[in-house]
This record gives sequence, C-alpha cells and structure tokens, in this order.
Amino acid sequence: MIRPWGFPIPLLPDELFSSWLVRAALVQGCDPLVLTGSVWPRWRVWTGDPDRGIAADRLAALARASGIAATVFEAATLRTIASAPAGGFPDGKAVWPWVLAAGSRNRRRRGGLQYCPACLAEDKKPYYRLRWRLAWHTACLRHGRILRDCCPHCGGTVEPHRLSAEDRHLALCARCKGDLRKADEAQADGDALAFQSAADEAVQRREGIYGQERISCEEWFALSRYFVGLLRRAAMGKSDILNEMLRAFDIDAGDLEAPATGLVLELLLTRERAALLGRVRRMLGAGPEAFGRAAKKAGASVQTLCEMRQKLPHCLEKAVAGLPDRSPERLRRKRAATGRPRSRRSVARMWARMRRAMLADS
Ligand SMILES: [Zn+2]
Ligand SMILES: [Zn+2]
Repeated sequence: MIRPWGFPIPLLPDELFSSWLVRAALVQGCDPLVLTGSVWPRWRVWTGDPDRGIAADRLAALARASGIAATVFEAATLRTIASAPAGGFPDGKAVWPWVLAAGSRNRRRRGGLQYCPACLAEDKKPYYRLRWRLAWHTACLRHGRILRDCCPHCGGTVEPHRLSAEDRHLALCARCKGDLRKADEAQADGDALAFQSAADEAVQRREGIYGQERISCEEWFALSRYFVGLLRRAAMGKSDILNEMLRAFDIDAGDLEAPATGLVLELLLTRERAALLGRVRRMLGAGPEAFGRAAKKAGASVQTLCEMRQKLPHCLEKAVAGLPDRSPERLRRKRAATGRPRSRRSVARMWARMRRAMLADS
C-alpha cells in the first residue's frame, strides 16, 4: 500500500512527465530512484523512457500517491503529440518519429533532451518542457536562442533523472554538478525557427501547408523528412545534379556538414537538425511547382529524387511527372519491348560476370 504524499506538487506549464517525477523527488528530499522505487517497487522506470507514457496500472499507483489525476500525467507524456506526425500512436517502434531518442543504456542516456538556459534561469523552480524532446524544436521562441543538448561545462548528456536529493533543483548537470543555466547560446537561425513554428502549427491543426497547398499533418512531416534525406545525400556529395537542383532554393550543399554518422534525424545533435530543418523550410515554402521546375532544369531523373526502394511523397508526384526513369528494371523492360540489342559494354559486363561465376564453380 502506497502512502499518499504529505503535500501536492502540481505540474508546471508544459512540464515533461520525467521532469515532474525528478522534481517531486527533490522537493520531498529524496533521490528520484527512491521516489520511483516507492511508487513502483518492481519497475526500473529509469532504464526506459517514461516520457513515452506508462501503463495504466502504474499510472493509477502514481495518481494515488501524488493526488494528481492520471489524465494530467498522460498529457505530460509524448504519446499524444507524437501521434500527429506519425499518423497514429507510435507504440512499439524503437525510435518514435520526430521524438528525440534517449538511447538508454541502464540509467545512462545518449541524448534525447534539450533545454534553453535562459528559460531555466527565469524559472522559479527550474523544469524541463515537453517540447524540448521534439526533434523539430531546435530553438527557444521566447528567447530566440538555439537550444542546448549537453552540459556547457563537461559536455555530458542532460540527464536530470540521475540527480540526487542533495542537488535540490533540476538546473544542475548530473555528471559534473555544473550549473546548466550558465551558458550563452547563439542566436537561432530564422529559417529553423520558421520550420519549428510551421511544424507546431501542423501538429495543432492536424494539417500543414506546402507552397499554397494544404496537406495532412502526417504528409507534411513525411515530406519534410524526404527533404532532409535529399539534403543529407547532397551534403555527402553523392549527386552533382542534386546539388544543382538545391541551388534553386538558395541552398549550397557545401555549407551543410556531411553527416559524420548515418544516424536518423531523431539522434542528431540540435545544431545538425537546425541546419537541415532550416533548409527544409526554404524548400517547403517554394512549393511543389518550384520543386518540379528545379528538378527539370537540373536534369534530374526519378533516381536523383529517390534512392533505391524509396517512394516519392505523394504531393510531389504531379510536379515531377515526366522526369526520365533510369531504373535498371525499366531499361531492361524497355529493351525487351523494342527488341533493340544490348550495347557492347553491357554485353562485355555480362560476359565477365558469367566467366567469374564459371571460375568460381570449377
Ligand atoms: Zn528560452
Ligand atoms: Zn556537466
């Protein structure tokens, strides 16, 4: 039987569930582990990601102890907001689309939480916002500064759940105990901020805007992710045609950092996401016709726009109709239909492959 707490500890505006859990522990003078251990004796909550939502029976136990309704806690988790870009609850997926991945390993985390030092400095009781876990958030609208994703003193991940009772508040680094508010962030990029606002609006209205067109929220995020993919490919210098095409949107792929890792968007650093999403904003603003014109002018084929097995977003299909398709299957089919003989080079390649196969067999 769980004893109810002596006094209520209400959630603060837009407070993230895990932020409240840690704050509730420190206010009562105990370690977060002790508090969660008393509410859920057989559950190691911090080895997972409680902000993704918790089971109804566990929520009920917390509601009894804290005196706060389960629905209030549910609203402080990422489940509802994450369902908008994903087009449904993303349960069961290892990485939730557009939610920063924590990358938990025991109680350690690789990332997943950003913060605004100025917001924490203004807070009477420093706390973490739900929106700081969203992949499209890279800046603080209120302060116009980019968000931080690591401690300014030791570079460690932001892990408030690893604080202990004597730390007393949440604006400390759990690793070096440095003050997370003592950081001066750079001015946010206007395009990245515009993307962030447009994405917030798409989630709120459940529809987004592409050029002059209205598309579903899910489609809008899928299109944005598709543009992120094009930008990352261009940054790796994979296609001159693609780079040429992006110049129509005033984007120089040479300015983009080639991703050092092939990590998904949800695992990238704030700075890397801001650089990509700001450029996506420019592509979105130009609309589908401009995209089609840029593709044709640069001499793009279907393969420039879609890597193997990748599908073009539906809202782009009309704009790029008529681009040449150079897929091997299609060329083969075309050759069979016209009865044209193969080129000398392709016959030589086939012969070489056959010889290799025969040698391997013998
Ligand atoms: Zn702020
Ligand atoms: Zn630190």
